[in-house]
Amino acid sequence: MQTLLITGGAGFIGSALVRLLVGERQVRIINLDKLTYAGNVDSLEAVSGQSRHVFVHGDICDRKLADSLLSEFQPQAIMNLAAESHVDRSIDAPSAFVETNVVGTCTLLDAALAYYKSLPEPARGQFRFLQVSTDEVYGSLGATGCFTEDSPLRPNSPYAASKAAADHFVRAYFQTYRLPTLTTHCSNNYGPFQFPEKLVPLMILNAIDGQPLPVYGKGEQVRDWLHVEDHCRGLMAALEHGRPGEVYDLGGRSERTNLQIVQAVCAIVDELRPDLPHRPCADLIRFVEDRPGHDARYAIDPTKAKRELGWEPRYHLEQGLRETVAWYLDHPGWVERVTSGVYQRERLGLAH
Ligand code: NAD
Repeated sequence: MQTLLITGGAGFIGSALVRLLVGERQVRIINLDKLTYAGNVDSLEAVSGQSRHVFVHGDICDRKLADSLLSEFQPQAIMNLAAESHVDRSIDAPSAFVETNVVGTCTLLDAALAYYKSLPEPARGQFRFLQVSTDEVYGSLGATGCFTEDSPLRPNSPYAASKAAADHFVRAYFQTYRLPTLTTHCSNNYGPFQFPEKLVPLMILNAIDGQPLPVYGKGEQVRDWLHVEDHCRGLMAALEHGRPGEVYDLGGRSERTNLQIVQAVCAIVDELRPDLPHRPCADLIRFVEDRPGHDARYAIDPTKAKRELGWEPRYHLEQGLRETVAWYLDHPGWVERVTSGVYQRERLGLAH
């Protein structure tokens, strides 16, 4: 049976990946997660009690821990999803992003290289290190065109800069040491189990509660939306079919402005909750001060992923958003538990 070391597997995308892999594949997963505010074991309830899922509470910056997990479990691949992931938080406090996203990734790369060198053939030939990165490393687009794997890295936020730095190290470990790495850049994800500081869940929960829906600037920024399950299938395809040293861009060809997304969420909440006294929820939209350095537009050309990995998204945005709203309506207990800490849906990242 294949063994995978997945980091950040209690987060939004990591937990979706773990649930999908345990549900659909005969794999054993070692799930290393620090359980920051964004990581919740509640998101792993579906796989709890499964002997093929081993949860390890720990930090990717802990080299000794990484070494001991690699030597004990002998994984065939490492999928690195652990990260500080929220742009607004990176504006308020960038150092945590350097620590986990840059130092943590380098620590894992180093541990992976030592482990890789210790492997006999053919295990060595099969080993992969997959770095899960973001389209935000490419910076911002004008009104037309798309990012491709050849686009230069021009990160604008501290979050994007930390992810770009990690991407450079991953590339360097392939070029210098021939560690068989893969890097994926994905566009904005949405779906169930996303921490409610991000646009889609924040808008859903505020709309349900009749609270203001803060839209940054005029809401004109364009993002290319992808359902989290489609992203996870893309990661699995990259691991299985990707060529070492290569980069694969995963996007949904679903460009929408932030305002369009918020309006779509409002319309779905209105429809699914006709009892809400404050309908229509779109009346709750408030335009607030823009994010400093807010990128205007992201869009991905996923041609290479389709051609080389055979990957294509399955979800239509409208269907995926509807299911996502329905999920949040059905899971108030999860929302309650993950927001019982310090974060109370307040505005972050104003840089003044
Ligand atoms: P998330 O914030 O929901 O989850 C991150 C997880 O990493 C959490 O469980 C957290 O506890 C864990 N973590 C943080 N620091 C850690 C450390 N030092 N050691 C071990 N675990 C640690 O993030 P997400 O949205 O699931 O994103 C996962 C990955 O995908 C990130 O690398 C992110 O950059 C990338 N990505 C996200 C998106 C998106 O739209 N969410 C898009 C493209 C790429």
